Amino acid sequence: MRLPCLLQPRILKQALTALFSRPYTTTFPKTPYEPIPQFRGRPRYNEKECIGCGACAEVCPSKCIDLVDDLGGATPVRRLVQHLDQCIWCGQCERYCPTKEGIKQSTEWDCVGFKREDFEEKVEKELLLCEVCGSVIAPVDQVRWLVKQLGPLAYTNPTVMLVAGRDLAIVDEGVKAEAENPLRADRLMIQCPRCRRKTAYAV
Ligand code: SF4
Ligand code: SF4
Repeated sequence: MRLPCLLQPRILKQALTALFSRPYTTTFPKTPYEPIPQFRGRPRYNEKECIGCGACAEVCPSKCIDLVDDLGGATPVRRLVQHLDQCIWCGQCERYCPTKEGIKQSTEWDCVGFKREDFEEKVEKELLLCEVCGSVIAPVDQVRWLVKQLGPLAYTNPTVMLVAGRDLAIVDEGVKAEAENPLRADRLMIQCPRCRRKTAYAV
């Protein structure tokens, strides 16, 4: 005779085990969900470690990082804004960040907000401008990072050398060359590559 389903030993054992076990499902949202440490969640900038190079914006496949050089204020700045609503959490920004710490994926997964700014991650870096033509060279922090990477070789480039010298307070800020028409003697200025070539060829 075929027993009713619940009286079959295997099913009965499973039913009794389930009756005296804890629920398999989680009690979210009563107990917040804790993702594993390797979880690839919302990317966050680290203001201290980011050098403003813009590599993250270059490699982002969904183009969700805007890079704007703002020269209008009292201090020229590079602004990087990551838009969470376009982010696919792929991790390319973190992978290609030269400092490896400038942007990192957090374990944040519950991204709720009521304003557009809640979905924007920003970082701002002061820009270094050419003293001759005023064009953007790089963020100051990027040049400082270069100084550390190059070591003594940093002193082969006058622009990098001057940034390092300013940090050591050994550069006389009062000495300015004729910016309109720099001469060969003015090579020791902060210059973009184009102006540096001009002063190298000047007499
Ligand atoms: S995780 Fe991917 S999509 Fe999101 S900002 Fe980084 S590179 Fe772009
Ligand atoms: S240092 Fe890293 S986080 Fe900062 S702009 Fe460069 S790639 Fe992006």
